[in-house]
Amino acid sequence: MRITHAEIFRFTIPMYPFTIATGTMDFAQNIFLRIFTDEGMHGVGECSAFPMITGETQNTCFAMARDFAPLWREKDPLQIEERMNELNAFTAFNTTIKSAFEMALFDIASKLAGKPLYQFLGASQKKALETDITIGLGDPEEMAAKALEFRAKGFRTLKIKLGKDAKQDLKRLKRIRQAVGDELMLRIDVNQGWDFDSAVFALQQMEKFNIQFCEQPMSHWDDGLLPELRNLSPIPIMADESVFNHYDAIRLLEAEACNYINIKLSKSGGIHEAIRINKVAEEFHIPCMMGGMLESRLALTAFAHVATALDNIQFYDMDTCMLGHKVDPVTGGVTYNGYLVELPDSPGIGAEVDEKFLSGLEKVIV
Ligand SMILES: [Mg+2]
Repeated sequence: MRITHAEIFRFTIPMYPFTIATGTMDFAQNIFLRIFTDEGMHGVGECSAFPMITGETQNTCFAMARDFAPLWREKDPLQIEERMNELNAFTAFNTTIKSAFEMALFDIASKLAGKPLYQFLGASQKKALETDITIGLGDPEEMAAKALEFRAKGFRTLKIKLGKDAKQDLKRLKRIRQAVGDELMLRIDVNQGWDFDSAVFALQQMEKFNIQFCEQPMSHWDDGLLPELRNLSPIPIMADESVFNHYDAIRLLEAEACNYINIKLSKSGGIHEAIRINKVAEEFHIPCMMGGMLESRLALTAFAHVATALDNIQFYDMDTCMLGHKVDPVTGGVTYNGYLVELPDSPGIGAEVDEKFLSGLEKVIV
């Protein structure tokens, strides 16, 4: 089988503004790809650029995708690692757009095998994927109102974005806990927003609010301070922006710097590297979370397959397209059954994008 060409779409998804410590996103800066073969089969891939975290934008992803596609022309789509080596030899970093290309190859390979991707990755059965739901950064009253709305919808775990100002963050969390009561699980995500002293102060003060874990309290520049923070913090710490690949995971885990790791394909550059991170974490007895940026249900379905295939992934932050997307252009794919994310049984990823939606998007064929 040979790759013939790729279709690259500027897969913009309109959104209600979503705010985290590093900034606000007004639309999802996604890219959708189809990679075609000479045997009539094609694979789909998607990524979501989150500039403040990965340094990629939709524009850089679109431009890089045009450069990547010719590198694969006439090549075998089933040699996934060789194909990724070609992209890695062409350019460093750019993990987000690389992940979309790799996803499309996994889609082709698992379709050809006649298996849903999670089975192709070695799992024999599905598992319950309970997602949290994220509350963007805002004033305490606004955030508490959102928390109540999500509780009414039946969610059991809230992920709360913090990281603007530690004292104000305490007020936010206090107001949310007061509003929802003791039963809901709360996790917080600081997105690198605190310095060391603020992190020690805030985490110690927040113990009383019963927090499951805190994601990325400090900048990745401060990784050297994480082991000390972990010792002082009554709340377990999850590394997110500090871990893009398995080398980062080894560095942090050898230093005993965190309790958990958040794996995202947009940071790892794809599924193979996600598997490597998870393997390192497993060796250190560190459970992982499967997370994402602002992907549609298409990439989210790929995440659900990966999370299903890896036992050590035990937390699921799989609400990417519930964070204010105004449209859902995906056909097939995961469905939400309350807080459970349920996988389709079709071969491959099992999702596509609606043709009518695609016809309105900027597209190049390479
Ligand atoms: Mg995070």
